[in-house]
Amino acid sequence: TVDSTSFIRVVVLGARKVGKSAVTVRYLTKRYIGEYSSSRDLLYKHGVFVDSQPCEVEILDTSRFQDDVFPADKVDWADAFIVVYSTADRRSFQVATDSLRRIQHQVAGRQVPIILLGNKRDLEHVRQVSVDDGQEMSLQFQCQFYEVSAADSHVGVTVAFQSVLREAYSLKTRR
Ligand code: GDP
Ligand code: MG
Repeated sequence: TVDSTSFIRVVVLGARKVGKSAVTVRYLTKRYIGEYSSSRDLLYKHGVFVDSQPCEVEILDTSRFQDDVFPADKVDWADAFIVVYSTADRRSFQVATDSLRRIQHQVAGRQVPIILLGNKRDLEHVRQVSVDDGQEMSLQFQCQFYEVSAADSHVGVTVAFQSVLREAYSLKTRR
């Protein structure tokens, strides 16, 4: 039997086209397809071991057609957040900052792990957000920070997901 501590719900959010679906699919399948349907939220369920404990993980790959609508209705559902921006898109970093603020406000004291994830680091020649900017933001919001490229490798993406799952798991078991 699986008790509730073994369920971990993760919301992946961020501006349009930053690679929310790409990092999610990379984590789940280790593959990179290149094009992802983006017209609706997708819920993935899979089993993993976190600290050698079996866990049911639900990952919600959010998607809001046309505009960057903050998924406020999903915040209470979540045990953890992955806030994605593109290192090649300054505006998406602003959207991420705004999301961090809104999450922090809405969880109001509930301890919820967040990862700030700068994707598309392979696009170094058109970089618009520095590593320092990301790091500074993560310090300000006391969250973890990673820069990754879903296009180049599954490794960084996997490390980031595992890290937020481990933090969420340890918080749940501590309650
Ligand atoms: P979403 O709208 O946030 O879910 O973004 P998608 O996952 O659909 O990706 C948007 C676009 O960015 C697609 O054309 C992807 O191929 C591309 N993309 C995603 N991740 C990367 C990456 O790490 N590097 C590069 N160069 N392109 C990426
Ligand atoms: Mg998508």
